[in-house]
This record gives sequence, structure tokens and C-alpha cells, in this order.
Amino acid sequence: MIENTNFISGKESKISLHGQHHKLADVHEQLEILEHSQTNDFVLPPFQEKLQQSGLYPLKPTGIEIFQVNVGKMCNQTCKHCHVDAGPDRTEIMTKETMQQCIDALRNNPSLKTVDLTGGAPEMNPEFRWFVEEIKKLNKHVIVRCNLTIILANKKYNDLPEFYKQNNIEVVCSLPFYTKDRTDRQRGNGVFENSIKALQMLNDIGYGKEETGLILNLVYNPAGAFLPPLQQSLEKGYKTALMKEFGIVFNHLFTITNMPINRYMDYLLISNNYEKYMEKLLLAYNPVAAANVMCRNLISVGWDGYLYDCDFNQMLEMKIEIPSNHVSNFNVAELNKRNIMIGQHCYGCTAGAGSSCGGAIA
Ligand code: SF4
Ligand code: SF4
Repeated sequence: MIENTNFISGKESKISLHGQHHKLADVHEQLEILEHSQTNDFVLPPFQEKLQQSGLYPLKPTGIEIFQVNVGKMCNQTCKHCHVDAGPDRTEIMTKETMQQCIDALRNNPSLKTVDLTGGAPEMNPEFRWFVEEIKKLNKHVIVRCNLTIILANKKYNDLPEFYKQNNIEVVCSLPFYTKDRTDRQRGNGVFENSIKALQMLNDIGYGKEETGLILNLVYNPAGAFLPPLQQSLEKGYKTALMKEFGIVFNHLFTITNMPINRYMDYLLISNNYEKYMEKLLLAYNPVAAANVMCRNLISVGWDGYLYDCDFNQMLEMKIEIPSNHVSNFNVAELNKRNIMIGQHCYGCTAGAGSSCGGAIA
């Protein structure tokens, strides 16, 4: 049973849990809740047991192809459900030296075909554009996870759509819903309006239009303690509504399950939904999704260069357990042999149609 949680961030806050010196800013606190919380009626079985029953334990990589880099926790937004606990008050960002180590790892490993840049708002890292241009010189496919509002946050970001286009970047943008109230409730007042303007700017230069090849994908995540609806049908709903109301087009919608860590964990606890949500994830466990979890073909690099199985393990500070666990001594052969580190939060990737940075997986 969870007791005495002392959560203070129920109302909209512009400060991260970290900045509030919140109890959950300590990942040990989060891990303790994930691993040991239970009620009289409900005990969450170890995720390891589910994998064993599915013949997937120990969980092994299928071959790393995606090199995901978290270039920092700084963000212009402070969304309620952020699994990074990002915000304007976070100062952890990747240095140019660590970026150079990433570039070296990419140059030495042709099997790494895709580079996925995330944050925070990755564009707020002062070396972001240099980093993108250097990666493109290596002929890698580059994805940028853009929160849309950053494009309008400051004059210096207004030309980001042009920059993306010049570098043929795939842009993946979060838009929790196609209505103002649901989006603003989750991400802050005014976010929906600015997101729509940013999408129109991207459309104006060709993003999201079949004939240009400039890919614009959107990301949905639930506004409460529930699982995402079916990706395909929700995509239709988004396409119809955004076209009708704002003339916006995009390529695909990715549905993502909220991971019970950081600010989403905080939300679940203060709304008294934590156990119910974990039970939902457990009941919806899908072995097909488990076989396709993204950590099997992705490696995640933290702002300080340490390596993780995914962005979620990174936020829980669960470094991979091999000697070369830093990008400065990147060894893809060794990484492909490792055991992936799992925990109770992994139920977030295996529920229903599953969830990954690329949306549903089953
Ligand atoms: S969810 Fe994305 S946009 Fe929102 S605070 Fe977190 S990193 Fe920033
Ligand atoms: S949380 Fe990370 S390690 Fe766990 S299943 Fe999902 S991608 Fe894999």
C-alpha cells in the first residue's frame, strides 16, 4: 500500500519535480513504489514472470538499429505527464564533446541506420543544429521529437521548419489530442493554439504531404489513467478533425501509452489511480507486444553519454550493465549480447497493442 506520499504537484506547475525537490525526484522512491506497492486486492506480479511465461526471459536485443539520443532535459513546457520530468528549470544538457562521441559511434557502426533525437525540447540544446548537420553527413536517417510550441517560443526557433526541411529530417510531434481543452489540460494553457500554428508552418513548406516525402508524424498519449484507443481508428479521427478545422495534413499518428514514472506517476498517485492503472496494464499484457518492445533494436544515450536500454530506463537511472556502458567506448557487438534490464514499468510497453516511440507494436 502506498502511504504518506506527500505529493504537491496536483495543480499546474511550471517547475519540474526535480525543481520542487519533490519526493519522486529521487528515482529510488519511484523504483520502490514500482517494485513494492500492493494492496489487499492487488499484487502486481514481477514483469520477469510474464516474460518467462512468454519465453522471452532474459530479454535480448534483436540487433541495434536505432540510436536514440536524449540531448537534455531542458524544455519550454512542463507537461503534466512528462516521463522525463523536463522543464525550463532543468539544466542537464549534452555537451558538444559528448555529441562528438555520439558521432564517432555512428561513424564506426553502419548498422545504426536511424538517429532519434529527443529531450526535453532537443532544439534548446545550443549545439542541436551542428549535431544534426554532422549526423546527416554520415547519411543516417534522423528523427527529431519536436513539441511544436518550441517553434514559436522564441524568434531564434521560428526557422526550425526550414532547418528540418533542408536536412530532410523526419519530424515527430506531440499533439495529445485534436481539441484545445484536452491538449491544454495536459500541456498547459495556449499549447494547442501554438501547436496548430506550428503544424501549419510545417505544412506550408511541404511537411506531411505525400508528394514531398517530408515526413510529419503526430503522437497521441492518453489524458488520464487509461490505455490509448486503437491507433488506426484514432489516426482517422485526427486526420478528419485537423483537416476540417485547420486544413492540417500529416502522415501517421503514433499512440503511446503513458509510462508510470516521473510526472505521470505523480499524477497517478495524487489522483489515487496508481494501482488501478497498473492493474489495467497487467490485465492487458500482450506477449506479441512483449516480443516487439523497442529496447530490442534501440539503444538510448543519456545527456551525459551513458547508455540505457530505452528512454524510460534512462529516466529511472537504470544504466545497462556491461563494462562499456558509455558512448565514448561504444561497442555494438557487446551491446547486442547484453541482457536488457527490465522492471515493473515495462508493463507500460506491453499492454494492449503495445507502445514504443514509434507507436503501437502489436
Ligand atoms: S512531454 Fe515533451 S514537451 Fe512536455 S515537458 Fe516533457 S519533454 Fe517537454
Ligand atoms: S520500458 Fe524500456 S526496457 Fe522495459 S520493455 Fe519498455 S523499452 Fe524495454
